[in-house]
Amino acid sequence: MSYCASRFRTVRRPTLAVNIGSVGVGGNHPIRIQSMTTSDTQDVAATLKQSIALAEVGCEIIRITAPNVAAAKCLQQIRTQFNAAGFGHIPLVADIHFLPSAAMEAVEHVEKVRVNPGNYADKKKFAVREYSDADYDAELERLHDAFSPLVKRSRELGRVLRIGTNHGSLSDRIMNRYGDTPLGMVESALEFLRIGAAHSYHQMILSMKSSNPKVMIQAYRLLVERMAQEDMHYPLHLGVTEAGDGEDGRIKSAIGIGSLLLDGLGDTIRVSLTEDSVYEIPVARAIADKAMSRWSASDSLPVAPESDDIDPYQFTRRPTVEIKLGGQCTVGPKQPPRVLVRAGQPGNLAALLPVLLSPKLKDTPAEGLIVSIATPDELGVLPVLSAGFLVLELAPEISAAELGNKVASLTPGTVLLQRFSAADAESLEAYAAVARAHQLVLAIDAEPAAILALRATIAAILDTPLLFTISRAVSTSGHATGGYRQLAQALRNLGSNAPIWIRNTTASAIRTETSFLSKLLEASFLTGGLLCDGIGDLVSIETEADPARATQLTYNVLQGAGARISKTEFVACPSCGRTLFDLQTTTQRIRAQTGHLKGVKLAIMGCIVNGPGEMADADFGYVGGAPGKINLYVGKNCVQYNIPQVEADARLIALIKAHGKWTDPEPETL
Ligand code: SF4
Repeated sequence: MSYCASRFRTVRRPTLAVNIGSVGVGGNHPIRIQSMTTSDTQDVAATLKQSIALAEVGCEIIRITAPNVAAAKCLQQIRTQFNAAGFGHIPLVADIHFLPSAAMEAVEHVEKVRVNPGNYADKKKFAVREYSDADYDAELERLHDAFSPLVKRSRELGRVLRIGTNHGSLSDRIMNRYGDTPLGMVESALEFLRIGAAHSYHQMILSMKSSNPKVMIQAYRLLVERMAQEDMHYPLHLGVTEAGDGEDGRIKSAIGIGSLLLDGLGDTIRVSLTEDSVYEIPVARAIADKAMSRWSASDSLPVAPESDDIDPYQFTRRPTVEIKLGGQCTVGPKQPPRVLVRAGQPGNLAALLPVLLSPKLKDTPAEGLIVSIATPDELGVLPVLSAGFLVLELAPEISAAELGNKVASLTPGTVLLQRFSAADAESLEAYAAVARAHQLVLAIDAEPAAILALRATIAAILDTPLLFTISRAVSTSGHATGGYRQLAQALRNLGSNAPIWIRNTTASAIRTETSFLSKLLEASFLTGGLLCDGIGDLVSIETEADPARATQLTYNVLQGAGARISKTEFVACPSCGRTLFDLQTTTQRIRAQTGHLKGVKLAIMGCIVNGPGEMADADFGYVGGAPGKINLYVGKNCVQYNIPQVEADARLIALIKAHGKWTDPEPETL
């Protein structure tokens, strides 16, 4: 793969080191954690207070919005007072949209300036027009003239620039030529990079943010490939925009950021949450630590390159065959990934069945229960399910011969799960024969190397309904995601389209909030990343401590990756100095009223300057229009202007109803 050294282990991408004041980013520096203040920048005391609070919880780079020249001037006082408070070592960054004049003021006072190439010196008119090559060149020349003063001044002062592209706010020029695509995002940044390079200025960092992790992942990969073609090696700032809050916000960020970090891309990260900024830092820290613990040296790569035949720049779900699981469930190309949960010993089943397979869980019941079977006799006492299916994880010492007729009473489509090593060809053949004879499904738990060693046997049993999984995907030479990618490649080579079951089996139980966060991040890295690569037909997050919460977490990871939508999708900006209402309470209030709307995407954005552009593909938007006033959107079109905020919730619901997207919430019956 040209965007990374390996898709199977984490080899860090070599980059230029960039110094933001005294903080190095890229090169051999660790992954840096950053965040942003949300106060009005001209309220210097409030912005200083937030900056100090962020620094005290470990934020290494702090961004402050500079929406106009007056706000940019305030950065001088903020910098001075921040230094006096003992934080001179922490760089400040000005966030600029639209106004070169604000950028030129800000660069005098802070160590880094972020510009959005979609709107720097470009007024967005959403104009549809054909740009001839000559028109386009004229536009680039205009851009060169507008951006060059900032580049030159940054070079003189030793400042850093971030070219921060957002999926939702590309320029009309880019939209008309490349569309709203990862390629458009990349081209947008390259235009600015080339201007920097033309002035021999290289202190630049890049970002390619989107609220959709798949788009964001593809855009960063493409950017790295395109930069390498032009011999550019700038560091990357990773982030998912408008991720929202709570579990969903953390999951979306971890999927996008984690997936790229596993491939060795990313030098500084921001986890954007619609919560107080200080809550972003522990999440970002945990993500960075997990990624850095997996860095391996490039000389540990195998001599022969490992192949992976997917197109990493375009999402395609891996093709699979359809298989019946139990009486009523199917896995396959037209079905969303199925949700499994660990039930433990057969004795636990009676207590778990009503909780986990209950239709009262509406759209989020567990569909498969994993039961550990220690002896063949336990097979005779299993209940017949009225919904879902059983996965019977057989102890390694149980041979196929011992199963005999003990499996005869099982519902057709029940899954037998057994682990096979490279030397288990005979056992595998015998298990497959039992599965075929009793209309059962065989789940083969094997490392990719074992799959390769067993390929002749697997080729001979392809008429058996098969699933593939890896229970211990973390090998010494790579990461779990790499293990599954190798598995998918091994199956591709074998000509098998058997479904793949992603198992999150790390030891952490979800007993405390810290262990829950760890499980959430692991699952988002592994499952979310694989789903964004098109791999994964069944998913389990396995813990015996709280299977109901694990089930909900699985649905949330599927939703975060866009693989299975079970509730309203919220796109909420993290808020900043432009925000016109309390985003956190508004998001929570709107979620309480609309969270049950499966398949509806709602955006809650703090201002009209960037909000509408950043809402991406939301169905409805609730956007701050003026203090105390809200604008409501259907798609990208504003349909109600400046309505009083007290009426806005009811009007939003009326709008959803008018567009036929409303359903009444089901009464709580659990
Ligand atoms: S959309 Fe939100 S985060 Fe973005 S500029 Fe407006 S208020 Fe700030």
